[in-house]
Amino acid sequence: MDKHSDSMKKYLDNGEKLAEEFPEESLNCLRKFREAALRNLGKRFDCESENPQITFSKLRKHIPARFYYYLEHIQSMGNYGSHFQEDGVDPSVEDARYCAYAGQEVLQWINPESFEDPVGKKDVFIGNIVDAVPCLHCEQPIGNDCVKKDGRPTATNCEHTIRKKAYAKYRRNFQKHYNTTIADAMHEMVTDVGLKTGEFIEPKEIRNWFDENYPAYTENAVNCHSMMMATNLKTRYSHPTSKNGNDKYNLFFAEKRKFRLYDMENDPTPGQFGIRLPPVAGSPEADKLDANPWQDDED
Ligand SMILES: [Zn+2]
Repeated sequence: MDKHSDSMKKYLDNGEKLAEEFPEESLNCLRKFREAALRNLGKRFDCESENPQITFSKLRKHIPARFYYYLEHIQSMGNYGSHFQEDGVDPSVEDARYCAYAGQEVLQWINPESFEDPVGKKDVFIGNIVDAVPCLHCEQPIGNDCVKKDGRPTATNCEHTIRKKAYAKYRRNFQKHYNTTIADAMHEMVTDVGLKTGEFIEPKEIRNWFDENYPAYTENAVNCHSMMMATNLKTRYSHPTSKNGNDKYNLFFAEKRKFRLYDMENDPTPGQFGIRLPPVAGSPEADKLDANPWQDDED
């Protein structure tokens, strides 16, 4: 670890130690952790400013959203813990624990080499729970269905909660291991399949590509992203990611239940979070904006 990460680690370790007994002090340590993280990331992405808030807002476009939210949350709770708790309620152990968890995730992301990756280089993601993880509740090993009290196997998707949680963790580890974002992977897909301007791609083809290349991303997340990255679909209105003016999210244009690449010169201005583009009544645009390319697309 470099010296900036060392000081991050020092504050994080203290924050973790204090979390159980002294949540307020813990949050205070984690606030310092965040300041060290901003200096570190500001240098790394060459956007450090004297005002940490400016550094932080500049980092928005450099770091994956999850880490931005973690740092934002640590900051809010740090302020809450240090300002005599506006509403008179002391910070809880859970508050401090969650912030310590968030800090741990940030530190791991910045220094992947210092943490053991639970996913080996050659590990392949297994798409069904029974073959991926054992059940610690009914004590069935990998490959065996969960069993009910009467000894009969449970139905698919009715595995014990402990096993479902273990599988969710297994999936998350793979997702982290990809070291990319679904939005970036979507661009990779476009390049990989050689999608040309004006050519159409079906939602199913996109899902298939993800199944081949990033199987740990859920079908739902892939669907949502392709819709959110289409400049003319309603999904954008409720998705904050489209608001920060990052062209990365202006990838597709949805037409005839399919996607083609967004054409900056000839297509309408991309829709944005919270802003409803008024379609001209009765125009094809009015219908398109309400079209959902995934409807009737279930196989
Ligand atoms: Zn079980």
